[in-house]
Amino acid sequence: MSEQEQTQKSGFETRAIHAGYEPDPTTGAVIPPIFATSTYKQDGVGGLRGGYEYSRSGNPTRTALEGALAAVEEGERAFAFASGLAAEDTLIRSLLTPGDHVVIPDDAYGGTFRLVDKVEQPWGIDYSAAPVDDAERIAAAIRPGQTKLIWLETPTNPLLNVGDIAAIARLAHDAGALLVVDNTFASPYLQRPLTLGADVVVHSTTKYVGGHSDVVGGALVCRDLDVAERLAFHQNAIGGVAGPFDAWLTLRGLKTLAVRMDRHCDNAERVVDFLTSHPGVGDVIYPGLETHPGHEVAQRQMHRYGGMVSFRVHGGEAKALEVCSRTEVFTLGESLGGVESLIEHPGRMTHASVAGTDLEVPDDLIRLSVGIETADDLVADLERALD
Ligand SMILES: *Cc1c(COP(=O)(O)O)cnc(C)c1O
Repeated sequence: MSEQEQTQKSGFETRAIHAGYEPDPTTGAVIPPIFATSTYKQDGVGGLRGGYEYSRSGNPTRTALEGALAAVEEGERAFAFASGLAAEDTLIRSLLTPGDHVVIPDDAYGGTFRLVDKVEQPWGIDYSAAPVDDAERIAAAIRPGQTKLIWLETPTNPLLNVGDIAAIARLAHDAGALLVVDNTFASPYLQRPLTLGADVVVHSTTKYVGGHSDVVGGALVCRDLDVAERLAFHQNAIGGVAGPFDAWLTLRGLKTLAVRMDRHCDNAERVVDFLTSHPGVGDVIYPGLETHPGHEVAQRQMHRYGGMVSFRVHGGEAKALEVCSRTEVFTLGESLGGVESLIEHPGRMTHASVAGTDLEVPDDLIRLSVGIETADDLVADLERALD
């Protein structure tokens, strides 16, 4: 068995740290270099060393990241992109042609909705929206023969709705469609959709995989080699690839994903405990709570429940805005998944564009990306801001 084959059979943390790269044969470098090169010397015309020809088509730093991502998601191949949305656009254009139909979550990530609605639809891709936690409505949205893709996100943003990956995979396959799962919120440490029947996993690696709020990136991971070939062709043909420095930062983040996620989950549980007992707080939304409508499904398909927590405050929008402006350890800002805790008001910030539509979120809702600081400090910060 080669070292790489051995790595594929090992535990999650070992794969996250070792898959995709073996110490450099000439120097022994334990970490892949940042191959800042656009082209490669050929040994005679067509004599490529290791298959590298031009860095849009392939770059060794990106190859290392792609190998590691495939290993942690238990897929066959992975592809790294300049952003999550570049990955999504490449995926849609690889798998759909004009006239095809896709079912998307009715609370899809805003950028995904904008891409499908404003960019792909004018090119002839039709879509319907259905709630991720209602398989019957997803089934009803399928157009036999025309629906080629079901797009799932679980948990969703910011209401943390949970979709049953295995059940929806069966629905998709019975209809001759593929299932794509945006696994950004859970990360591969908490949930591995390909093992539950999904065909492709999408990531914004900007979030938990990178984990340090210092790089934007995206990824696609698949298990079928025919799908992989289509993705590989379109990655090169469209060109939205991850640069070598971005790939290197993302790979560095991935190595510590497991320990970071466990701390994100520990801290989120502490924060949830605090919020559920605070008199100024209304609903607390977290898939780990038994009261969460998706708790049972989450328990089945997730290893733990993640670092994202949403809650409503008594006192309406004014109070929610006040809380967001009063925290000191929680930084007021968009995005999520970094080591530092973030707080935001979805109605005025990440979800401002859906105000007045079916996707509108309550105006007293606050979303937290719970970081890995000292849990007592996070609780004390929220307590101060709420009182
Ligand atoms: C951020 C995000 C994206 C988009 O990724 P970018 O890296 O910002 O392009 C897609 N899906 C989810 C769930 C996200 O949170």
